[in-house]
Amino acid sequence: MPVTEGLVVSLTRMKRILEIDEENLTVLVEPGVVTGELQEEVGKHGLLYPPDPASLAFSTLGGNVAENAGGPRAVKYGVTGQYVRGLEVVLPDGRIIRTGNKCVKSVSGYDLTHLFVGSEGTLGIITKILLRLVPAPEAVQTMLLGFADMEAAARAITAMIRRRLVPSTIEFLDRHSIDAIRDALPFTIVDDVRALLLVEVDGDAAQVRRDAEAIGKLLQDSVRLQMSATDAAERQAIWQARRALSPAIARLAPHKINEDIAVPVARIPAVLERFESISRQAGLPIVCFGHAGDGNIHVNVMLDKNDPRQAAAGKQAVREIFAAAIELGGTLSGEHGIGNTKSAYFSLEWDADTIAAMRLIKRAFDPHNILNPGKIFPPVS
Ligand SMILES: Cc1cc2nc3c(=O)[nH]c(=O)nc-3n(C[C@H](O)[C@H](O)[C@H](O)COP(=O)(O)OP(=O)(O)OC[C@H]3O[C@@H](n4cnc5c(N)ncnc54)[C@H](O)[C@@H]3O)c2cc1C
Repeated sequence: MPVTEGLVVSLTRMKRILEIDEENLTVLVEPGVVTGELQEEVGKHGLLYPPDPASLAFSTLGGNVAENAGGPRAVKYGVTGQYVRGLEVVLPDGRIIRTGNKCVKSVSGYDLTHLFVGSEGTLGIITKILLRLVPAPEAVQTMLLGFADMEAAARAITAMIRRRLVPSTIEFLDRHSIDAIRDALPFTIVDDVRALLLVEVDGDAAQVRRDAEAIGKLLQDSVRLQMSATDAAERQAIWQARRALSPAIARLAPHKINEDIAVPVARIPAVLERFESISRQAGLPIVCFGHAGDGNIHVNVMLDKNDPRQAAAGKQAVREIFAAAIELGGTLSGEHGIGNTKSAYFSLEWDADTIAAMRLIKRAFDPHNILNPGKIFPPVS
């Protein structure tokens, strides 16, 4: 998205899957390949490309690498960067460089590959991507677990981790989120359920059964609602609770501000408490949902009208949300990146010397500042 005058380069026609290497478990793609289409294609070979941003039906792998996109499966499988083995990149002066290779181990020189991962298009234009694949799991089980409050849900997450149970997904919905979707669901969520966890385990069939049983037993005293499915259609019905959420809250508050802070997992209850108090002070509802298993929370400050006073209160609440996340050891963004809208807050997270080191890298690659000017860095005063 250009913020001043400029050119937009579209890579959507660079959409070939160039090679699926079943012996080295890699795939070479052009940047315009749509994430979901790659997953479908490698699935035909019994392979999995795990990163699963909710935008996978339309996001491209070039965008995923540039943003280091994550998704619900990040709890077990990690984010895009953990699957990038190598890149071809066009530098701002037109030179083409190649980084990385198919080797599992490779420590020859600087790791330029991961300098480009998450660089938000500010260092070069990625034109080829070499990705790692993993064997597709034999079975998946999805569970929807309801709790009395967010504290009980947070305790359940810690209990699972302490027992060394590693679900592939742990998503959470707070009480406002539940209220927003209750009427649109094909099943009933009783009123005394004020927090939901959507938990998924995968692996071979026996292990999935064992893990699901262990989770059920571990949480039996705190759970107030429990649904479970292994069949694809039933799993989709459970996922509907999570997928219905974004559109439902956008309808409730068309001018909402959506941020995606992340905190260390153990700090989730503390950060949610801080958001409650920010919400009370701002006089605006704050709806939280997201990836509880990896500490990445989508925080929605609900603005229901296009009103300057509400907008100002929302902006102040956003600053306090970022400050709270950072104070608790977290970050401004778990997966959406800094872009234009968060550049003004960048110095809340990083000190002047650290930002100066990042600017040096930017200048080394792009001395004339022609790639995505205005993104990531705060304006120099
Ligand atoms: C409904 C919805 C749900 C979403 N859910 C998630 C989620 O679950 N997880 C998540 O991480 N994100 C999510 N996102 C954000 C977004 O989809 C991701 O950041 C995605 O990775 C962007 O891919 P894209 O192809 O749309 O990139 P674009 O939006 O086109 O580009 C994103 C940035 O990357 C740069 N870029 C794109 N291609 C290249 C390239 N080839 N070389 C260099 N720079 C490049 C662009 O300049 C731009 O700055 C969501 C977005 C929406 C709208």
